[in-house]
Amino acid sequence: MSVVAIVGRPNVGKSTLFNRIIGQRRAIVEDVPGVTRDRNYAEVTRYSTPFILIDTGGFEPISEDRLLVQMREQSQLAVEEADVILMVMDGREGLTPSDVEVVSGLRRAGKPVFYVINKVDGPKQDAETVDFYSLGVDKVHAISAEHGRGVSDLMDEVLAVLPHDELAAEEEASEVRLAVIGRPNVGKSSLVNRLLGYERVVANATAGTTRDSIDSPLEYNDQRYVLIDTAGIRRKGKVSQKLEKFSVVQALKGMDRAHVVLVVIDASEGVTEQDLTVAGYAYEKGRAVILVVNKWDLIVKDHKTMGQYTADLRDSFKFLPFAPVLFVSALSGQRTNRIMGMVEKVAAEFNRRIPTPELNRVLKEATISHAPPMSQGKRVKLFYITQTAVRPPTFVAFGNRTQGIHFSYHRYLVNQLREAFGFEGCPIRLFFKDRE
Ligand code: GDP
Ligand code: GDP
Repeated sequence: MSVVAIVGRPNVGKSTLFNRIIGQRRAIVEDVPGVTRDRNYAEVTRYSTPFILIDTGGFEPISEDRLLVQMREQSQLAVEEADVILMVMDGREGLTPSDVEVVSGLRRAGKPVFYVINKVDGPKQDAETVDFYSLGVDKVHAISAEHGRGVSDLMDEVLAVLPHDELAAEEEASEVRLAVIGRPNVGKSSLVNRLLGYERVVANATAGTTRDSIDSPLEYNDQRYVLIDTAGIRRKGKVSQKLEKFSVVQALKGMDRAHVVLVVIDASEGVTEQDLTVAGYAYEKGRAVILVVNKWDLIVKDHKTMGQYTADLRDSFKFLPFAPVLFVSALSGQRTNRIMGMVEKVAAEFNRRIPTPELNRVLKEATISHAPPMSQGKRVKLFYITQTAVRPPTFVAFGNRTQGIHFSYHRYLVNQLREAFGFEGCPIRLFFKDRE
């Protein structure tokens, strides 16, 4: 998946533009309590081309809040991570020395850069953009992020230069794709080596390498798997290494092509904000998830430790109550042999179809023991339910006045489906439709 990064000095309107662009997408999942959101990243789909949008302005100061240093690092970061860069400047203030500085840094990147002049709210201000041609660029894009002016045209041009993803074509129906994600140093590479049963030779990524991950084929119980290892390619850039948060981009890319996601956590460090963010994305993308607590060897344990740790984990990952948890040590190999068995099980659930009569029976029982809510004085009715998709398991229940169904009843029905059918490791999507 391609990455588009928004750079520029503070207050030029980067986050306004970010929100404007992501506002054009429609969320698949409604707000789910407990899912951590990160406002610096979003996956956007436009004309069915998905890409990752980054607002580099959202990051905390990297070094001694010296503006220029910070900006240099942020644009450096964008250069390392992005395929396309949106360099935003402020049309009201005009060109500033720091703009010039950032632009010269971007030039060296050899990546497509769009020079965006923001706050050009109306045609009257268009003349103000002339200034910016002194940067020696071929074209500037006058926009108003706040009012949306010019943003759509800009994004059309951005899309035209995005590298095309050939990955969809690579996809094979019979294989299960498994991504190993997590923060740097949690032990992803060590786990991948365990799963593969050999030390993979990691080629050092050289500049210009477009691959985001190393794919390794793996066979288990006559099923073909592809292991997507985002850690396999060591982050080339010093800055992205420094700014650990950017591994979120790697995680997003890895998850993009995966069916099952192993979210790896370092037992000795516990759950961090970033672990939650990344797992939240996996959930939103509808991936099957297994929580792998690695470095279990480092924990001083007694008979209660694992139970306590699991309870804490459940508390942190409230939105993933269905995800199985494994405690392993990639170092010693303790319990790593259980991982593929769990993946096999979860992948089967992910692809499972439930016959409609069985679903209807569960719906009927569920609505009898707990009736749907009232809506404008009349009771919501649910008549039947069907599974419309797998990966993830997706259901549509048909009825009357279904707009009257709120979160708690929705959750109740999802729980009933889960109780009846399991779907271990899989998110369940349930939609309602009024019968015509
Ligand atoms: P960032 O620091 O670069 O992320 O900038 P923000 O997105 O936070 O915007 C900084 C300020 O500029 C806010 O007060 C915005 O309301 C304002 N702003 C952003 N875009 C526009 C625009 O298109 N026109 C005008 N007039 N103001 C804008
Ligand atoms: P990655 O950045 O997530 O791919 O992490 P690595 O696989 O490179 O591991 C980071 C460090 O943690 C290395 O020094 C590993 O030897 C160490 N490590 C990995 N797994 C374990 C484990 O289960 N226990 C202990 N004690 N150390 C581990």
